[in-house]
Amino acid sequence: MAEKTRKFKTEVQHLLDLMIHSLYSNKDIFLRELVANAADAIDKARFAALTDSTLNREWQIKIEQNKDAKTLTISDNGIGMTADEVVENIGTIAKSGTKAFLKQLEESQTPLNEMPELIGQFGVGFYSAFMVAEEVELISKRAGSNEPAVCWTSKGQENYTLEEATRDDQGTTIILHLKTDAELYLEPWKVTEIVHRYSDFIEYPIILPTVKKNDDNTETIEEKILNSQKAIWLRNASEITDEEHQSFYAHLSHGGKLLKPLHIAAEGTSEFKALLYIPEKLPFNLFMPDLQKKGLQLYVRRVFITDECKDLVPDYLRFIKGVVDSSDLPLNVSREILQENPQIMKIQKAIVAKVLSELKKLQEKEPEKYLLFYQECGKILKEGIHTDFQNQDKIKELAMYESMNSEAGKLISLREYVAAMPSSQQDIYYITAENRTTALASPALEIYRSKGYDVLLMTDPIDEWVMQSMFQYDKKHFKSVAKGELELDADSKKELENMVEAAAETHKSLVEYLAKELENNVKEVRFSGRLTESACCLVADEQGLSAHMERFFKAMNQEIPAGKRILELNPKHPLVEAMQKLYDQDPQSAQLKEYAGLLYDQALLTEGSQIADPGLFAKRIADLMVAGLKN
Ligand code: ADP
Ligand code: MG
Repeated sequence: MAEKTRKFKTEVQHLLDLMIHSLYSNKDIFLRELVANAADAIDKARFAALTDSTLNREWQIKIEQNKDAKTLTISDNGIGMTADEVVENIGTIAKSGTKAFLKQLEESQTPLNEMPELIGQFGVGFYSAFMVAEEVELISKRAGSNEPAVCWTSKGQENYTLEEATRDDQGTTIILHLKTDAELYLEPWKVTEIVHRYSDFIEYPIILPTVKKNDDNTETIEEKILNSQKAIWLRNASEITDEEHQSFYAHLSHGGKLLKPLHIAAEGTSEFKALLYIPEKLPFNLFMPDLQKKGLQLYVRRVFITDECKDLVPDYLRFIKGVVDSSDLPLNVSREILQENPQIMKIQKAIVAKVLSELKKLQEKEPEKYLLFYQECGKILKEGIHTDFQNQDKIKELAMYESMNSEAGKLISLREYVAAMPSSQQDIYYITAENRTTALASPALEIYRSKGYDVLLMTDPIDEWVMQSMFQYDKKHFKSVAKGELELDADSKKELENMVEAAAETHKSLVEYLAKELENNVKEVRFSGRLTESACCLVADEQGLSAHMERFFKAMNQEIPAGKRILELNPKHPLVEAMQKLYDQDPQSAQLKEYAGLLYDQALLTEGSQIADPGLFAKRIADLMVAGLKN
């Protein structure tokens, strides 16, 4: 073959122009790209070697630095290329991502030097060599072919030349004649660092020969393998030891404790491998979002892309750490592309399904282990009930709560709650509160206690928010015991309604008096069947905020949406009778006025809220005590 000079296709010229003339924010990636190409070529040769026994199988990638010639050489013994293949592969741009990128650039009409960041986010394959080289030579010999080797050279302008070359072994050698500002890449430490960062898990050895001076002034060449070649996620699940998992997880999570590894090997519409970890203890920084790397590590065919691919897991699974290695994604994915990438979305879907089903298994088969996990991560996982409607039902199964009828610290699932419901009970009852003690002190629980119903105690700050989307479980509605009308089975309901109606009739004047007296604090005073022991309580109407939510807003320094609550009185409580008597004797009674205030304050105290004037409250109590002792 005589030497031939050819012109690049215009789109290639365009790309080259970009590479050479724009400020590239991260030149290092050229080595990542060339090493990745070498590994791809070996993958192909390894496949061909299955049927061709003549091929060399001592797979390796070699990086050589020549300080005198100012060249950096990357060679592989992979599949290699024929002359035609070189023209086909190196002379055109086939990658859709790059094409789309070029189109976007053209359309935006932004001067190139104003968008170095955008360009910097694109790995752009072979041509990235021109960021650091003024001339690139590529010598290649196709494995298993009789064609002579070919040499391709270009200075990255309009043209390239092709001529015959000599090379005995299969594979490709790329010689970069470095620009003066790229001589850093002649330093062994620099190349070592880049390979560690981007190509550590490539499964073929990446060798850097280094010259070692001996004591007698002779030199020997040492061949150092730069990469660990340990792609733990590509190994058979059964071959990985617990220690290996723990140490890899520690590396990923910066010190978390591991509960269980999950392996995913997906084939079909989306091909990827993933090694994910369910934590037992969270690294502390999960709650300090700025310090936390978000998402999973993403590799494409063992080449490192990013250690925070957020889109691989939804927010509510952010406690999951791990690695995804995709076979479908192009290497030149940018952060922008990752965001809407349909492949990424497919992977996310598969990951969510796997994580949720594994958690379910854990919950059923190893409940103690599951509880360890849930106590750490439950409050994060529950967010999914509110944010992932598609998987809401599965996440509800995983949610666990304390309950009024179970001992402190014991968590039950909704399934367990429903299974224990007496036949007369229609709905699932819950109360939100700061902690178990405040929840249990709530007078709103009394009626349920007396009926033998259980009430879920929701004590995570996130619960109230989550409950906005928790409408039903197993066709049963969720009802806050501190909200809305009381709903009970038909018989009890009638009975209670009658009692409430009768009391409202008998004590009409007292109720009106209290409503007037407390009009700044409550929007209504009424009787209710909710209470069996306490004299009174405060409830929100169906749309209103519960006491817990009000405190939550206050703690967040947020304005509390206006809206007063309802003071409910217990028709069976002797206090009602006594106050009525006082009112009938003297509607202007100063004592009655004080009692009205006390009534409201005790409603606040029992639900765990603060009273406006503790001093006044204490004085009133003291007066009462004195009066009581005198009698
Ligand atoms: P990509 O790797 O995404 O296809 P590149 O620009 O990196 O894009 O490479 C273009 C093509 O050139 C590759 O698809 C491959 O066919 C060929 N190629 C590049 N480097 C080598 C190599 N070392 N050995 C064999 N073929 C190669
Ligand atoms: Mg490539």
